[in-house]
Amino acid sequence: MTTLAFLGLGAMGDPMAAHVTRHARQGGHRSLVWNRTASRAEAHAHAHGSEVASLEQAARADVIFTCLPTSAEVDEVLTVMEPHLKAGAMWVDCTSGHPQAAPAQRERLAARGVTLLDAPVSGGTGGAQAGTLTVMVGGPAEALEAVRPHLAFAGKVVHVGQSGAGFAVKAVNNALLGVALWATGEGLAVLARAGVDLGAALDVINASSGRSNASQNLIGQRVLTREFPATFALGLLAKDAGIAADLTGEVRGSAPLLAQTAALLRAAERVVGADEDHTAALKLIEQMNDVELT
Ligand code: NDP
Repeated sequence: MTTLAFLGLGAMGDPMAAHVTRHARQGGHRSLVWNRTASRAEAHAHAHGSEVASLEQAARADVIFTCLPTSAEVDEVLTVMEPHLKAGAMWVDCTSGHPQAAPAQRERLAARGVTLLDAPVSGGTGGAQAGTLTVMVGGPAEALEAVRPHLAFAGKVVHVGQSGAGFAVKAVNNALLGVALWATGEGLAVLARAGVDLGAALDVINASSGRSNASQNLIGQRVLTREFPATFALGLLAKDAGIAADLTGEVRGSAPLLAQTAALLRAAERVVGADEDHTAALKLIEQMNDVELT
């Protein structure tokens, strides 16, 4: 029997762990869950039939999934779990982590005989609930093949390279989300000042070459409606764009647009609030232009 453990039952982790638990129950495996706020783990066990575990118990699992805010929190749980880890286990980190954190984490785990895969995900809370997430995996290909059957939350799994490559791809993907979101917000603010109806403008953009995921799936639904449902925190998007900017520096690349987007999102995080939905970044553009995007 394989024991699976899922650590971090947040907006993403909770539904992802539900898929892992369903898969475990179907396959005769054990499914353990741990969350810093224990009541969320208890609610998960009640709703899905997983077993609440301590970090020490979760450390004995064969496959350990983490989905925490940043690599710093992964380091924290790793420190507690390190002495209890089981040789031959796999650690699948679904956090949108930092590529620079991966080498030290890999070495700490390797010293215990545990293989690390960075496996961040894309698709939002809707994709997590539907079990259709895109998973971008860095690390040994044979380790991915070993855990692939347990990636029950995935719609698409791509091996993108060695350790840290998954984190890098995720950071760049989300920096691109930030660019499109911010740029579309700027464009709409200009149109609002020109007196154009934004619903009509967005209708045109979504049928024209300026469209993006942000214009098609986010701004109409979350900004123009003023709903801003908090499914993906602005602080997390700012973090991801910051990682892309860090990566640019590390490889001595030239990506001024990504760097500027990271800085703008950081400013929006301060002004608007880290816990607000990422689309609320456009409230800073509204202030800059003295308009409301409605
Ligand atoms: P949430 O804020 O909803 O959940 C964060 C989770 O981390 C909670 O379980 C929280 O526990 C736990 N946590 C926070 N701090 C600590 C700590 N110091 N020690 C232990 N556990 C901690 O985040 P998301 O689920 O939205 O995001 C998780 C990861 O997934 C992030 O890296 C994010 O960038 C990424 N992501 C998010 C997407 C989204 O649409 N939301 C989409 C794709 C990727 P507690 O319950 O105790 O607060």
